[in-house]
Amino acid sequence: MNWKHVLLVLSLTALASAQSASSKEVAAAYPDAQALYVDIHQNPELSGHEVQTAAKLAGRLRGLGYDVTEHVRGTGIVAILKNGAGPTVMLRTELDALPGEEKTGLTYASKLRTKDDAGHEVPVMHACGHDLHMAAMVGTAAVMAHSKNTWHGTLMLIGQPAEETIGGAKGMLADGLLTRFPKPAVAVAMHVANLLPAGKVGITPGVFNTNADALRVTIYGKGGHGAAPHTTVDPIVIAARTILALQTIPSREVKPGEMAVVTVGYVHAGTKDNIIPDQAELGLTVRTRSAEVRKQVLAAIERITKAEAEAGNAPRAPTIEHNEAIDAVYNDPALAERLKGTLEAALGKENVVMEEPIPASEDFAYYVEQGIAGFYFMLGGADPEKFAEAEAGGTMLPSNHSPLFAPDVDPALHTGIEAEVAVLRELLK
Ligand SMILES: [Zn+2]
Ligand SMILES: [Zn+2]
Repeated sequence: MNWKHVLLVLSLTALASAQSASSKEVAAAYPDAQALYVDIHQNPELSGHEVQTAAKLAGRLRGLGYDVTEHVRGTGIVAILKNGAGPTVMLRTELDALPGEEKTGLTYASKLRTKDDAGHEVPVMHACGHDLHMAAMVGTAAVMAHSKNTWHGTLMLIGQPAEETIGGAKGMLADGLLTRFPKPAVAVAMHVANLLPAGKVGITPGVFNTNADALRVTIYGKGGHGAAPHTTVDPIVIAARTILALQTIPSREVKPGEMAVVTVGYVHAGTKDNIIPDQAELGLTVRTRSAEVRKQVLAAIERITKAEAEAGNAPRAPTIEHNEAIDAVYNDPALAERLKGTLEAALGKENVVMEEPIPASEDFAYYVEQGIAGFYFMLGGADPEKFAEAEAGGTMLPSNHSPLFAPDVDPALHTGIEAEVAVLRELLK
């Protein structure tokens, strides 16, 4: 195929859907977006510490003519572009990276180490693709700023800190996100994942992900010499029984077909092989979709942990701290249906797929709970060839948070910008 032919096809495609960002518009914005991606990928910052990251994003958006407010609860930023009468539409990106050692082997892989909130030195990497979301936002911001004749209203871009530790959205809301700035009618966000090949997007009307609850359970025992267990109450043995019993909640108590996950993500107990410690700590994450199942599972955890402690002759009942409680993200079904058509026109029908809800969580739900219609969609990140190979072989590519997570930036970033521009133009018609 020669280039004239390509351009002809592309301009015909552009004509076919007036809302789509033309390839020329995306191509013009792409190098800057891609450069920002590489820079941020190499310089990740942990949740709540996204100082340089936020400054870079703010600088780019200011350079594009946006009215940027920094330090909206810590490192949060809000960038506004007013363009006449019309609705306010918000697009959100996260700013934070994760503690973890990057093993992607990319030339621009992160080699950084930093101190976490507990003061421990940890490696840090963008293992969730938030760097790609920021790069796409800058590309989208450029296209929107350079095509003000294609939309009207107020575009509100926000860079949210601390998504991974859940607190950023709440923090920005508490710092006046909806009172100091125009309240959006719609909030949009996307997330890159290897669940789809790059070039495609996924839409889930209604419940998009799961309710997430994080619990810390402390089991109490009586410490002593490892050689004299009869003089002690061993909290490790109680913890072990508890962990296994908790698994009967999803498998035996929750109605088959309902979604419930109970994961014990950490067990902390003891210091030395011949010392029986006096307590053991379990960190749990609980994922559910319906409010009733959520209530049922949380009650069962309390019942089982208490009963196991009693069975083990613990000197006191365990304490259960409910550290996090995040509601599922809800995609307004009518809006999702409408934007499905928009994305099909922009990316091609074959590149828009309907997806099942995913078993993850996200603090985007806090915005939606403020009475803002939400549209949260999935951006394909997998190298299409590797994706096809994995599918054929019945395996899966590294998921988000894996040390091997590396989205196929080109085309995923292109598609991300195209998708965001199409959605924003549709909402700001
Ligand atoms: Zn994540
Ligand atoms: Zn993420």
